[in-house]
Amino acid sequence: MALNDKQSDKMVDKMIDKKSEKLVAVKGMNDILPPESARWEWFEAHVRDVMAGSAYRNIRTPIVEPTALFVRGTGETTDIVEKEMYSFEDRLNGEQLTLRPENTPGVVRAAIEHNLTYEGGKRLYYMGPMFRHERPQRGRYRQFYQLGAEALGFAGPEVDAELMLLVDQIFKRISVKNVRVEINSLGIPSERQAHRAALIAYFQQNAESLDADAQRRLHANPLRILDTKNPAMQGLVQAAPQLLSFLGESSLKHLETVQRLLTACGVPWSVNPRLVRGLDYYSHTVFEFITTELGAQGTLCGGGRYDGLFEILGGKPTPAVGWGMGIERVLELLKEQSIETSNTVLDAYAIVPDLADAVRVAPVLQQLRAQGISVQMHATADGAAGAMKSQFKKADASGARYALVFGAEELSKQQVAVKSLRDGQGAQTLQSLESVESWAKVLLK
Ligand code: ATP
Ligand code: MG
Repeated sequence: MALNDKQSDKMVDKMIDKKSEKLVAVKGMNDILPPESARWEWFEAHVRDVMAGSAYRNIRTPIVEPTALFVRGTGETTDIVEKEMYSFEDRLNGEQLTLRPENTPGVVRAAIEHNLTYEGGKRLYYMGPMFRHERPQRGRYRQFYQLGAEALGFAGPEVDAELMLLVDQIFKRISVKNVRVEINSLGIPSERQAHRAALIAYFQQNAESLDADAQRRLHANPLRILDTKNPAMQGLVQAAPQLLSFLGESSLKHLETVQRLLTACGVPWSVNPRLVRGLDYYSHTVFEFITTELGAQGTLCGGGRYDGLFEILGGKPTPAVGWGMGIERVLELLKEQSIETSNTVLDAYAIVPDLADAVRVAPVLQQLRAQGISVQMHATADGAAGAMKSQFKKADASGARYALVFGAEELSKQQVAVKSLRDGQGAQTLQSLESVESWAKVLLK
């Protein structure tokens, strides 16, 4: 259904009314501006490289998905679905939609829809924005970015370990230190069922100590009570029956194989029997990469095996394992550890005293760029060239290592003056505009 005339008139009126008001971003959603954005690009480049090294391939799914995907996939009793989703009705056609709060259900939906695992397993990764309506604070935003990896169609513990090794490799590559790895096993459904019964019985015996959240979850999802952040409940939770002691031989062996692989690769780990992760779909291995250097938002990456999710979303039974990493938190930790991320350097700044000469300068700069030289041409807010002196000031401020002076005199001789901005002497050479390729590399260091 399209907007009728009256509705759209009203919207336009509203826009006109508020025309002069300053608009600001939605609370908890951030602009990522230069030079900060260069740190993001630096991180993303390392990620692509690491992913290529293990032949993980990029997948890009829509940011908006049917609400039902997350209600079923992420799970009705999770924090995300209970209170964090940006869900709305598309008023143009009445569809129930949600801005993705995580991307595992989206990837699995796409895999089912396009029969991705038809010829065997697929190793995939993505980077992109996620949306959760939470209270904004350091390391917790309403739009945030996740890097995620998912291996679909593989059942063995080697692949669980492979996924964790991928995270370890990323952290090593970007030189992040002091990240701890915690693992646990959630076993298989029958083991969880037995544990669940024991857990409910235990919590019922201690009903007077349960907070409101826990009482609500007691029958819906008692495992989630173990995830509580309420300090008053920690003692109770510590003493609760542990899922680990309900695991059968094969589940224990799965966990042990993951542990041996990590150890063999020099990745220290510890078992946290209370690690259950917030989502409904996990089985067997679950894990988190944690730092103590970011306060309460110290979980950098979380994931695990989710063998049941394909079926929950209407696909054929397909084993799978994956993780999601909060990019803001990783970048914050890099800052915390004073790790140098990138130095975007401009090689050269073009000084053009008479802008009428731009017609001759621009093609030269294009030739330089084709040689891999980064170069910027002087420009001003009012479109006038400005004095030579002020152009040199701009060149200095740009951080460029060279100024290219396209003055009338140089141009009349088919030349450009190349002036170093770094050595105090301001050494200068004249180069020919007819053989740019022969001298371009001079600017590269
Ligand atoms: P937390 O316990 O911190 O709420 P979570 O269990 O909800 O995390 P996951 O759903 O496992 O988080 O998401 C994977 C990663 O994404 C987290 O480990 C974290 O680094 C990041 N993350 C999750 N929620 C946010 C958010 N609101 N803002 C920034 N990063 C987030
Ligand atoms: Mg959360």
